[in-house]
Amino acid sequence: MVDYKDIKVIGFDADDTLWVNETYFREAELEFSKLLSKYETPNKIDQELFKMEIGNLPLYGYGVKAFALSMVECALELSNKNVSPKTIEAILNIAKDMLNKPVELLDGVEDVLKALSTKYRLILATKGDLLDQERKLEKSGLTPYFHHIEVLSDKKESNYTKLLKHLDVKPSEFLMIGNSLKSDVLPLVNINAKAIHVPFHTTWAHEEVDEKETNGKSYKTIGSLIEILNILK
Ligand SMILES: [Mg+2]
Repeated sequence: MVDYKDIKVIGFDADDTLWVNETYFREAELEFSKLLSKYETPNKIDQELFKMEIGNLPLYGYGVKAFALSMVECALELSNKNVSPKTIEAILNIAKDMLNKPVELLDGVEDVLKALSTKYRLILATKGDLLDQERKLEKSGLTPYFHHIEVLSDKKESNYTKLLKHLDVKPSEFLMIGNSLKSDVLPLVNINAKAIHVPFHTTWAHEEVDEKETNGKSYKTIGSLIEILNILK
């Protein structure tokens, strides 16, 4: 039984925890595969784009801009460098449209932040592109609930250890809440902090974890963010 009585600081993931994100990537991938349909099957295009993104991660990191560069590179490769400038322009527009999307908050987000912010120090810990994440936070209207915003280049144990040191919080006093087992839950459990998993209906393949990795790990899974208020009374 996990107890939360020592918790002083709560970290929230942003994408697919506070607001919709992954859905837009799925839509973009679909559009991208339509643009390249004369060169390859949708399945193959999906696979190649994913490979390209993973290959580029160490160079570009996460986020829409990195995704745009990977789409362009993938289009060049799949078309044997025959892709038209018009198609490249359409690809860039997919990314621009993603960056211009309104922010769609998930159910209960504002109620949860409002209630918890009176008792805990709340921080936002997200990866992705700094400018894009700042823009989304601004549009979300949630900024006043957070003491600190951290855009991390990655969400591994070492990134969290550094963050907690910076915040002067012990792992036992920190709870992370997020949709990704790989990024928001397991690294925290592994450094003796607490974590609560709130799955979103779609997960990027890169964020998926093997069942073996979660075996014996102590964390809670809830169906909707609002349930947090029953746990952290
Ligand atoms: Mg997320």
